[in-house]
Amino acid sequence: MKNLITLIALTLLPTAAVAQDTPPPEPKWSIAIHGGAGTLDRDAMTPERRADYEAALQVALDAGAKVLAEGGSAMDAIKAAIIPMEDSPLFNAGKGAVFTWDGTNELDSSIMDGRDRSAGAVAGVKTVKNPILLADSVRTASPHVMLMGAGAEAFAAEQGFAVTPPEYFATPARAEALERMKAQQLSALDVDHKFGTVGAVALDMQGNLAAGTSTGGMTGKRWGRVGDAPVIGAGTYADNRACAVSATGWGEYFLRVGVAHEICARLRYTIPALEFRLHPWDPITIKNYAQTVADEVMADVKDLGGDGGVILVTPHGDAIFSFNTSGMYRGRATSDGVNEVAIFGGEEQASATPDH
Ligand code: ASP
Repeated sequence: MKNLITLIALTLLPTAAVAQDTPPPEPKWSIAIHGGAGTLDRDAMTPERRADYEAALQVALDAGAKVLAEGGSAMDAIKAAIIPMEDSPLFNAGKGAVFTWDGTNELDSSIMDGRDRSAGAVAGVKTVKNPILLADSVRTASPHVMLMGAGAEAFAAEQGFAVTPPEYFATPARAEALERMKAQQLSALDVDHKFGTVGAVALDMQGNLAAGTSTGGMTGKRWGRVGDAPVIGAGTYADNRACAVSATGWGEYFLRVGVAHEICARLRYTIPALEFRLHPWDPITIKNYAQTVADEVMADVKDLGGDGGVILVTPHGDAIFSFNTSGMYRGRATSDGVNEVAIFGGEEQASATPDH
């Protein structure tokens, strides 16, 4: 319904007169990151714990923003942001990944370049310290998009990745979560109350978009379960014509909705019309429209019974969050001077990113 109203409004609005002598706009950059969404409990969040998460998010955000501010690519920026989160035991990716039912840590990751929609993904790897880098090697050095398990590890060895011992990934907190789940017959949601997948999306000053996601999946996953994070179109998508998206949440639902591609497809159909009609006084901005689309797709996930969130950036540099949980570990920075991290809903500055 909102889409219909938007389209009718677009048809009725006066067409923009194109100013001939407007100087070209300053190149923009923008980055958003997440460290997982979930039913976060404000009371359980001690000041120390909050400070730890905020510091870890800030390190990741600054690493990505630095690449972009120095003129680097969106692809390099998202890798720079994701690696420290994979290395931090706070997040469910790389070190600190959740345990499978069999007591192992099996890692999934994917990456996509909005320039040419080249993509790489790995699922169920156990000995690669930074799965986002292996996903990128699949993209650049293999003829395939997605590799799994032993095959992905054989490819990693061929590409010169060191074999990281499985003990590196295991943390006491995640081991305890598996034990609790088994003892009390809880679901992965009851035991974790939050997802901890990490992701980053970016726009660089050359106008290119990129997205990446990395996860250990869900506690107690069985039978080689693979979630949305390594699936291009579900957990990750980037297309210069539309947006870059990374998701976190109950992967089964994100797979069924095709969340990341669904958001980008809706924006791809609409952004040209919005750009054509763009006046400062137009009621519909790309930022507002992108927020509406992301919220609608997340509402669709919720209607099916799932929960979680997404981050996205648009080709115009809007950095947007949408989640249907009480919180999402997140951060964003832009060339307009925004730089913020947040955990619970409504914590970011409302006017943080200017309208486009
Ligand atoms: N989406 C991930 C999965 O289902 C979990 C997460 O976001 O933490 O594997």
